Amino acid sequence: MTNAEIIDLTKRYLFQVYARAPVAIVRGQGCRVWDGDGCEYLDFFSSTVVTALGHSHPTVTAAIREQADKILHVSNLHYSEPGARLAERLCTHSFADRVFLCNSGAEANEAAIKLARKYGHEKGEGRFEIVTATGSFHGRTLATIVATGQEKVRIGFQPLPEGFRYAPFNDVAALEDAITDRTIAIMLEPIQGESGVIVPSLDYLRRVRELCDRHHLLLILDEIQTGVGRAGSLFFHEHAGITPDIATLAKGLGNGVPIGAMLATEPVSSAFVLGSHGSTFGGNAFASAVAFAVVGVLLQGAVLENCMAMGEYLRQGLTRLAGKHSMLKQVRGHGLLIGAELSVAAAPIVERCRETGLLINAAGEKVLRLTPPLIVSRAEVDEALAIIDEALVG
Ligand SMILES: *Cc1c(COP(=O)(O)O)cnc(C)c1O
Repeated sequence: MTNAEIIDLTKRYLFQVYARAPVAIVRGQGCRVWDGDGCEYLDFFSSTVVTALGHSHPTVTAAIREQADKILHVSNLHYSEPGARLAERLCTHSFADRVFLCNSGAEANEAAIKLARKYGHEKGEGRFEIVTATGSFHGRTLATIVATGQEKVRIGFQPLPEGFRYAPFNDVAALEDAITDRTIAIMLEPIQGESGVIVPSLDYLRRVRELCDRHHLLLILDEIQTGVGRAGSLFFHEHAGITPDIATLAKGLGNGVPIGAMLATEPVSSAFVLGSHGSTFGGNAFASAVAFAVVGVLLQGAVLENCMAMGEYLRQGLTRLAGKHSMLKQVRGHGLLIGAELSVAAAPIVERCRETGLLINAAGEKVLRLTPPLIVSRAEVDEALAIIDEALVG
């Protein structure tokens, strides 16, 4: 089908909840994708920070084929090898002792919220409140839109679940002020992705950990965007030298196959008992086998090294462009989660980039977000920089 045909069908039959650019992507290979009219694009968005290993990665495709030949789905009322092996792999390489597998980021956060509440009711003197950060993004389910520190996502959905409070990001004193005698947890993205790649100091994260210890609070880190190699490690919190009590992963975990994970330490995870939570598809054999392969590739190390090297190279290139174009004000980020703050609206620049063959997106009003696959090459970064250079001229 052509772009126009796919767009017509979409507008006719799907809920119109997304502001889509007028292209229909039909195929991808590595860092490149093609649309229905045969146009080629460099994908520096990784299809919403998902395809960490690039499109059609051979190891991922092999895992898909192999598992599809065996079995796709096993009931959670029986045992299944792929989910168990994935959980072991995630625990071996993280702070966590146990994993709950689900199908998306919002579901992973929903599980984290439920676990924190259950823990609070049983082991935390009935405490239930969760403090999150202003500007945060935690998902689109009813509980996660309340966890999200942005008023606009909640409009029209009242009555809302109770028990959330907000504090400005990167401000430990404000966070401490928001704590009450009913607070059980603090929930944060270690870098705020959707609101414009807002990078706090590593010291902030360390002091939040101390604050949680002092007030007997759980620290929940939403690593859905920062995790799975995007910042050069399986989890961003490794850079701060801290561990959370609960962490969530999704986006890059299945390289495009839907899967989410909620990880916790043993004392916290023990609040969930038989029947506390569940999901028909969660930890599905197919998705788990694919995620196992994705994490396996990351643990080999070369992709993470490339992520750090290319992240540095891309940030340097953007900083050079900032010297040339006054509308490019600040370049920030970690690994290949990069924000370039403009003095003007980001959307027209994003559009100009797309028209000249580069997919990126706008996070917040004035920030270009660049999140290429972690396998991106130096030549591809150079190509993207040349397109951005041109787009900033207009
Ligand atoms: C994308 C994202 C989510 C939501 O994930 P979905 O899979 O869309 O439900 C939650 N938190 C963060 C930090 C995200 O980037």
